[in-house]
Amino acid sequence: MLATTETIATSVDHWLARFEKALTGSDDVVLRTLFHPDSHWRDLLALTWRIGTVNGADAILRELKVHADRAKSTGFATDPDRTPPRHVRRAGTKAIEAIFKFETAIGRGTGVLRLTPEATDGGALRAWTLLTALDEIKGFEERVGKSRPKGESYSRDFRGPNWLDLRKSAAEYGETDPVVLVVGGGQAGLSIAARLTQLQVDTLIVDRGRRIGDNWRNRYHALTLHNQVQVNHLPYMPFPPSWPTYIPKDKLAAWFEAYVEAMELNYWTATEFAGGEYDERDGRWTVVLRRADGTKRETRPRHIVMATGASDIPNLPDIPTLRDFAGRVLHSSEYDDGECWKGKRALVIGTGNSGHDIAQDLHSSGAKVTLVQRSPTLIVNIEPSAQLPYALYDEGPPLEDCDLITTSMPLALARKNHFLLTEQAKRLDRELLDGLERLGFKLDFGEDGTGWQFKYLTRGGGYYFNVGCSDLIVAGEIGLVQFADIAGFVAAGARMRNGETVAADLVVLATGYKGQEYLVRKLFGDGVAARVGPIWGFGEGQELRNMFTRTAQPGLWFIAGSFAQCRIYSRYLALQIKACEVGLLPREPRDSLAANGGSAYGH
Ligand SMILES: Cc1cc2nc3c(=O)[nH]c(=O)nc-3n(C[C@H](O)[C@H](O)[C@H](O)COP(=O)(O)OP(=O)(O)OC[C@H]3O[C@@H](n4cnc5c(N)ncnc54)[C@H](O)[C@@H]3O)c2cc1C
Repeated sequence: MLATTETIATSVDHWLARFEKALTGSDDVVLRTLFHPDSHWRDLLALTWRIGTVNGADAILRELKVHADRAKSTGFATDPDRTPPRHVRRAGTKAIEAIFKFETAIGRGTGVLRLTPEATDGGALRAWTLLTALDEIKGFEERVGKSRPKGESYSRDFRGPNWLDLRKSAAEYGETDPVVLVVGGGQAGLSIAARLTQLQVDTLIVDRGRRIGDNWRNRYHALTLHNQVQVNHLPYMPFPPSWPTYIPKDKLAAWFEAYVEAMELNYWTATEFAGGEYDERDGRWTVVLRRADGTKRETRPRHIVMATGASDIPNLPDIPTLRDFAGRVLHSSEYDDGECWKGKRALVIGTGNSGHDIAQDLHSSGAKVTLVQRSPTLIVNIEPSAQLPYALYDEGPPLEDCDLITTSMPLALARKNHFLLTEQAKRLDRELLDGLERLGFKLDFGEDGTGWQFKYLTRGGGYYFNVGCSDLIVAGEIGLVQFADIAGFVAAGARMRNGETVAADLVVLATGYKGQEYLVRKLFGDGVAARVGPIWGFGEGQELRNMFTRTAQPGLWFIAGSFAQCRIYSRYLALQIKACEVGLLPREPRDSLAANGGSAYGH
């Protein structure tokens, strides 16, 4: 493989030049020699207006030919303002990785190219992976940096409304409707609203919380974020460099308030979205918003973006004998503070993050706690194991480059990468895992050993980042029983199959939430739910279903996931909504490619 930075850059530019020439000249023969037979092309709107991945040189060629004429992509070149081309190891394979830029008829984009030598072609460098991503639409660029707004409308008219007057009236929606209604003001809602606002798409966030940030403030007392601060930035406004590695919940909640203010987002607190109906003819929703003071407001946005996190519908297991239990039964969503359970006995059913965190909270409040395991669970120490997937964010490239590189991993390689990271985590966490197994804790490492990332992406749970609860279990301070060993519940607690009773005053069902589909059905009815179909998870495809992309229901969009996912994919979601608004994109995916639907990974 080539050695110096200069020769690496030359190889990359050479590849890009040949690619562009072959693309514009529809030269199949040359195009074929540019890709490995086992290569991957991921496009984020730039050439196809969809978020999708194509595998294998033949399929890539076919798709490129379908889209090249319309996209008219030119100007492919390494980007001197980004991390220079370099040798890397990705998913266990050595490759040259380069960030490049290009233009299409309608926009400007960036991409990531990975080259590896082809043994059957004398070691010639061919594309192993290619990402093409739309950054901006020409004529509708974000008004940032040199294009920032001058503020003349309020600073030069001394008798007119000033900035504050304008902000207040924009957020009131007295006689007007927002173009986009974002339901939920957590990280997902804030990210998409900030992006849309930059693109000058009028956007209102509604959240039932009384105060911005309550989605974090109301979580358990000791909460700090699980990922390190450098991975968790919101778009445009990074956290200050003095912030702690793991951000405490109340600090984050306060930042959310500051973010809304600084990014000039329209945000109605204490406002519940109670459902909506779509009018095909007008291309608008009729939406009912319920304010905490009992009043209702109807509004007619053109788009609704659901940013509600997990559905708020608890997943309650069917345990008929629980009716015989004389103590309190709470779903994890109803649990707030361990203090009132001091000196009492608790059974916590469920061994995901919530179950472990609640068990630890109760234990540290002075309760006697037993954790009940229903199914095998992945356990990973918060440090260093749970941080392994984010090593890139600590290696030096700026945040934007890290995000692009993360985005450029096609599903097949992301799975391989996470398999390798899971193996590494197992080695690092061996002592803890052995200790848990000795006590009968049933461990699991995800489908095909792909670890917690893929558990998160496919089912949204089934793992615990150990911040101490597993150690308490190993030390015998928190008890553990298997659900299968419980014969049934009695007034005093859980009657075990061996005849013993585990006494309890409280049973917490940390059994998760129903999928987003349930929420869609509740809020929009059966027709919309059936049209949209499953949300999140990959199904048979390579992209998260119905996420960050047009859905079969015009004007209905979804955003969710980690801070990183929300930061990364809010850009592409906002570009699609803008493109719909300016007539570049139909509101429903009509072509076969777009029907592929869905998008994205990377916690
Ligand atoms: C201990 C812990 C640590 C974590 N650490 C990290 C981390 O480091 N990095 C990371 O990326 N993730 C982390 N997570 C995961 C994180 O909680 C979720 O990713 C996050 O809350 C999801 O954000 P969201 O905006 O999608 O949803 P939420 O934060 O759940 O926000 C959804 C909002 O929608 C509102 N809402 C719902 N329905 C309606 C309605 N009908 N009308 C009006 N409003 C509504 C809710 O009030 C809520 O405010 C952590 C979680 C926990 C518990």
